[in-house]
Amino acid sequence: MRQACFFDRDGVIIEEADYIHDPAQVRLCPFAAEAVRAMHDAGRLVIVVSNQSGIARGYFTEADLKAVDARMNELLAAEGAHVDATYYCYHHKKGIIPEYAIDCDCRKPKPGLFLRAAKDLDIDLANSFMIGDKESDLEAGINAGCKGVALVRTGHGVHQNIEKIPQAVDVGDVLTAAKELLAREDKSSTE
Ligand SMILES: [Mg+2]
Ligand SMILES: [Zn+2]
Repeated sequence: MRQACFFDRDGVIIEEADYIHDPAQVRLCPFAAEAVRAMHDAGRLVIVVSNQSGIARGYFTEADLKAVDARMNELLAAEGAHVDATYYCYHHKKGIIPEYAIDCDCRKPKPGLFLRAAKDLDIDLANSFMIGDKESDLEAGINAGCKGVALVRTGHGVHQNIEKIPQAVDVGDVLTAAKELLAREDKSSTE
């Protein structure tokens, strides 16, 4: 089984902007490429898990999402980084596109995206990490059984309260989050 680090997309890998739908909007967050490389260097898969309810809401299409994805990958590649897979939730129960207007099992904080990735890629969730900019990202990681979760203070992270998740790493940026999760792991394995 492989170990993974799951990353939220908006506010973690690329700069948060409401319902990103245009490749021209895509900017990498500071140190995102370095954080991704750090996880690969530690032998982990890098998986993006992201709620994209703009599709259910009719704000943009799957083709738009693919174009944003391609731009993110292009910017990461320019910095020698890549993601191994992306898993998106298109759903929202109040959506207007019938096939996506459902109360699904994959909208974070539900763990469906993680479970799907684990099945597809033989991931050991109990030894995996989640980094997000919202409390619901961390809850999703916990609901999926991940052993380490981290909140970054970029994107929505600037106004998240995670008092309910005292075990979380709580740091400014995604590279610091990655390093801290890996450092805690080294520490617990030598104890
Ligand atoms: Mg986010
Ligand atoms: Zn979903």
